[in-house]
Amino acid sequence: SSFLSMNLSRPIIKSVTTLGFHKPTPIQAATIPVALLGKDVVGNAVTGSGKTAAFIIPMLERLMYRDRGKKAAATRCLILVPTRELGVQCFEVGTKLAAHTDIRFCLIVGGLSVKAQEVTLRTRPDVIIATPGRLIDHLRNSPTFSLEALDILVLDEADRMLSDGFADELTEIIKSCPTSRQTMLFSATMTDSVDELVRMSLNKPVRLFV
Ligand code: AMP
Repeated sequence: SSFLSMNLSRPIIKSVTTLGFHKPTPIQAATIPVALLGKDVVGNAVTGSGKTAAFIIPMLERLMYRDRGKKAAATRCLILVPTRELGVQCFEVGTKLAAHTDIRFCLIVGGLSVKAQEVTLRTRPDVIIATPGRLIDHLRNSPTFSLEALDILVLDEADRMLSDGFADELTEIIKSCPTSRQTMLFSATMTDSVDELVRMSLNKPVRLFV
């Protein structure tokens, strides 16, 4: 399999080439075609598998070519990660993959100024990468911030978010998202609590075990 055979657009092929990705990793080969169709996916993937690009590439394609009119008005995608470090890594990959597009990412994690993040959120970035705790702060306290126009939700390292005690935050965030969204969940392990989260937040998911 190759990135070219996936019918990706020129801006994405360009950045994939710049990043030196010669061919898709197994999780990318499995996820990208299914996610491009807008289906929900559950992927069994660890850090190092290339899972970040596996969900960001189809996300960018869908952002570029669907409902462009909606774009300026609202945040369209939310990526939840368990830690600040994973958020930073995800932000770096996302920004590089989006280099030849006008799609804007922002990082909403602990350790950065809440005030500065509020200002950033008011500019309606296309994609928010966030830890659940900090995102909840904004959802509860900022009257202008909402997830009501969300198209795509990603739950990355779901097992870790649950074992780090974010279950209640995840439930609250998911309830603030429209039910018509696409949801992608990735987890290194498939525990009972991950299964429960899948049942609660995904709609007829395609299960990708690579
Ligand atoms: P991740 O599992 O998403 O944390 O990615 C691990 C590392 O693999 C990152 O440094 C990526 O830049 C790199 N990577 C992702 N996809 C590919 C690919 N198709 N070919 C080569 N390296 C990749």
